[in-house]
Amino acid sequence: MPQQQTLIVIKPDGLVKSLTGNILTRLSETKLEIIAAKMVRVSEELAREHYQHMKDKPFFDELVSYLQGKLHNRRKVLAMVYWGDEAIEKVRNLAGATNPEKADPTSIRGSYGRITSKGVYENVIHTSSNPEEAEREIKLWFEPDEIIQDVYPTKTAVLDKVKKRAWAQI
Ligand code: UDP
Ligand code: MG
Repeated sequence: MPQQQTLIVIKPDGLVKSLTGNILTRLSETKLEIIAAKMVRVSEELAREHYQHMKDKPFFDELVSYLQGKLHNRRKVLAMVYWGDEAIEKVRNLAGATNPEKADPTSIRGSYGRITSKGVYENVIHTSSNPEEAEREIKLWFEPDEIIQDVYPTKTAVLDKVKKRAWAQI
């Protein structure tokens, strides 16, 4: 069985509905390992890039606003990378179908998702659907050093004059 990594994002509706613990519990049943996790304030640029495959859809702008948390007044998401046997399919199965009304009622999306009046599926979590998508998405959301193991080849760059915030006192 292939060892894979997959991106999981608990979307703003998942956070607003206090589903984080519940979703992590469901995910822990898969026996996959969490190899990265962080809270992210999603910029418009990141949201547009993440959903680039939907850019011609009539609901694209609404979808970008949704991922940014503008529909829920909660401007953050929890982004994670899970790793292990058949990680992509295992997590997709737990998540359920994209359309929450079509999703298995016991799946995460079937249990907690809804369709907004503007037609966007608020489906609680994002999860990668194939290895190519996982690679693109993980590289979009995470730097190599934010992931606890090497999942893709890296290179070392010497950066000059890069401005970086640091603790004022340590
Ligand atoms: N989406 C939507 N309406 C659609 C199709 C997709 O609102 O008819 C949203 C939904 O939030 C979905 C996201 O766009 O999660 C990305 O769509 P994709 O087809 O990649 O579904 P996913 O991989 O998330 O199941
Ligand atoms: Mg997708």
